[in-house]
Amino acid sequence: MWVRIAIKPFLFRLLRRVPMPWIAIIVGLVAGLGVWGILDQVQSQQVDKIFGQELQVRLDLRARESLIRFDRYLSNHAATTRLLANHRRLSEYLEPLFWSEDEAVTPVVYKDFRPNWLPDFFDRDALTPPSQVLLTDPQGRVREIFQAGEDPVPPELATQVPASFLDSREVRSVIERFGERLSLLTSDAVEDAGGYNMGYLVVLVPVNDAFLAASQRGLDVGRAAVALIDSDDQHILASIDSRTMPPGSSLADWNAIYVITSQSLPEYEGSDSNLLFATFVPHASVEKMSRHVRIFERRQRFIAAAVFIVVFTAVIYLVSSRLNKVLKRMTRFSQRALGIAEPGFHRDGNQLLLLEEWIQHFTQLVLTAREEMSRKHQAEMRESEALKAAMMEASLDAIVTLDHGGRVIEFNPAAERLFGLERQEALGAVFAEHFLPDVTRAAFKRLLDRSQHLHREPLGRGELLALRPDGSEIPVEISIVLIELEDERFYTLYIHNISSRKRAEQEIKNLARFASESPNPILRVTAEGLIVYANNASRPLLLAWEAEAGDRLPEDWRSEVARALETGQPLEQELDLPDQVYSLLFAPIRDLGYVNIYARDITAVRRAEQESRQHQAELVHVCRLSTMGEVATGMAHELNQPLSAIVNYANGCSRRLQSGLGQTDELIGAMRQIAAQAQRAGEIIRRLRALVGKQPPLRAQTDLNHLVREVCSFLEFETNRVGVQIELALAPEDIPVRVDLVQIEQVLLNLAGNALDALEERPEDQRHLCIRTTTDNGEARVVVEDSGPGIASERILSLFDAFVTTKEGGMGMGLAISQTIIENHEGRIWAESVLGQGSSFHVTLPLSAPNEEVGEPDETPDASCCPLTDH
Ligand code: ADP
Repeated sequence: MWVRIAIKPFLFRLLRRVPMPWIAIIVGLVAGLGVWGILDQVQSQQVDKIFGQELQVRLDLRARESLIRFDRYLSNHAATTRLLANHRRLSEYLEPLFWSEDEAVTPVVYKDFRPNWLPDFFDRDALTPPSQVLLTDPQGRVREIFQAGEDPVPPELATQVPASFLDSREVRSVIERFGERLSLLTSDAVEDAGGYNMGYLVVLVPVNDAFLAASQRGLDVGRAAVALIDSDDQHILASIDSRTMPPGSSLADWNAIYVITSQSLPEYEGSDSNLLFATFVPHASVEKMSRHVRIFERRQRFIAAAVFIVVFTAVIYLVSSRLNKVLKRMTRFSQRALGIAEPGFHRDGNQLLLLEEWIQHFTQLVLTAREEMSRKHQAEMRESEALKAAMMEASLDAIVTLDHGGRVIEFNPAAERLFGLERQEALGAVFAEHFLPDVTRAAFKRLLDRSQHLHREPLGRGELLALRPDGSEIPVEISIVLIELEDERFYTLYIHNISSRKRAEQEIKNLARFASESPNPILRVTAEGLIVYANNASRPLLLAWEAEAGDRLPEDWRSEVARALETGQPLEQELDLPDQVYSLLFAPIRDLGYVNIYARDITAVRRAEQESRQHQAELVHVCRLSTMGEVATGMAHELNQPLSAIVNYANGCSRRLQSGLGQTDELIGAMRQIAAQAQRAGEIIRRLRALVGKQPPLRAQTDLNHLVREVCSFLEFETNRVGVQIELALAPEDIPVRVDLVQIEQVLLNLAGNALDALEERPEDQRHLCIRTTTDNGEARVVVEDSGPGIASERILSLFDAFVTTKEGGMGMGLAISQTIIENHEGRIWAESVLGQGSSFHVTLPLSAPNEEVGEPDETPDASCCPLTDH
């Protein structure tokens, strides 16, 4: 057993290595030779058998033909005998004859010549010539004899022909043995010219080899022979070749050499001899023919086997080369399509086994894949079922499935909630009748129809009213999906309650009216500046822009729209119309690419601001007038100096002129002094006027350091009075600010004035006042520092409130107005103080661009603190 087990894989491995064409050739050869060998055996026997049968038939035919010829030859002799018997010459010869009735008669013998009554018909008809012709009387007695050859008349016939050989009605023909000789005896009745029966004409022809050869003339006997045989003792009586086959020899002697076919001669049964006609065909010629046939047959079979091998091998070769291609293609297919790594079929070998192996491998893979797919499919089905159940459960929308008759077959929890009905109660109900009011049924029917026609599209969808069992109606949106299975049709209805949406839509519609109802202009503009919406209140704006909704904004406003969209930040602009001022807020909505413009009529606001500014200016002026009293006193005192000097110089001049002592040079010098002092007095008055003068608010570019110096000059009298010198610590460069000069001077005047007031409370040697200017972070800063008593911290915050004062006769408005002024200038003002040590008041103002026009420069400022001197 183990041997078989071991051999089988070995053979299999061996077979796998041998390419198909080789196997084809080997199998073809073995099969061809095997078939040939078996066929040769079987067919040879069969051929021999058929050949033997065929031979037998042919021999029979041959023998029959020989017999027929022989028989015809005998008939010819009989016919010739009849001709001779009925010949005119014989009847004329017999006419005068009259034979006596004597018993013993000596017949007349014709020897060496032919009697007149006997024409030579045998020779003429190419028949074997007779040995004797006898003429008998009616009783058979021999009257005349024609002796043709040497053989004597057989003794049995020498005088009397037995009646058994004679017949008056027809020709009698018989082969008879006379001694050792065999003769054909033919007789016919003869008549004379008068028709009288005269007797019989008897013809004897020797049956020998010449007779037999003549009987077979015209037949290609070849090496075959014929003979007459005595059937009793099976001896040859006469043969066609008496030398090789002598009469008297036994038939058994010839059986080994010839195939012998013997036939009876029924026509001649009247004879005493029991004769058979035999045909001899030599075995050798039969064998030769048989061998020829066998060789021919074998050659045919060999050719057939060779053709079979060649064709079989060629077919297998073609099949294997085709298989090779198929295998290669399948290898590629496996690698590419199925991802089967390296099936290993590109090597040579038995393609059939490789194919079988591949098919097994492939089948295994397919089975595995099928199992895998089936598992996957089942898992997916379960998942899908679970998912469907979960979806049905979790769906916020009602899901109702109808069968083709419109009856409910599925009703999810959301549907239960929507309709207020248990699933069990809903199942089986006709949906249109139970869940839709009459008015919407026709619309529902249309939706159903549409879902059938557009079942590939997202279906019939529409808004309808649904009916609850309690009779209430709810607006719903229904989507219908048609599901067509092979023999069934279902509709899935997704029903969404749109009550809240409807409400929201209503609210949105109401909200949408806000814009149109708004008293303020509201517009919507696209990124290209196209006005897509403008409410009624926008009319003045549209008039100003000479545009309508649908037109584009003017160029400069389009750029504002673009800017707002670009930055994404809302921006505000003002639109000044002749009678109105509008504030426009550009609110960009970048996602949608448009800008909403919300406009506000700020004409009243601007007017109020204007008035407020005027009031403020007036207040500042009043304030200034209040300080003017103090400043004016100082200034009046100050004026005294130049005026007294002028008076002195003028008096001196007039005295000199009156006395006539005065030199011209001296007088000119004195006059110059007068002029200089007058100028000085003029300057003092100009400053006073500037301080008191009521001017409209006006912004101008100036240098902050210049303003500080100007203020110091106003305070000269006061500083002298208090006995303090103002220290200036000014920034080395110009500090460009765009301010209302008078208002900022007013602020600085307030701060410095307050400081001087505070210093008065300190002993004279402790009085210091310093004014600093700096620039920092785009801001200009002024700090007024004093060494006064300081301010309590709890008061610092309320310092800038109006009417806060600690001074007798003070108004408490100075700091309040200062704060208003500074804030109007987008600046800040605050106080810092250490009680008992002094206070500092800080003012910041925005720096303006340095290239802008700068106010009249003054002398180069001193970086260090310098005492305020008289300029
Ligand atoms: P008025 O000078 O008329 O009192 P102000 O508004 O100028 O009004 O000042 C309000 C008050 O702030 C002053 O009464 C004073 O008490 C206080 N004050 C202002 N400046 C100083 C200062 N440099 N040192 C101390 N107190 C000051």
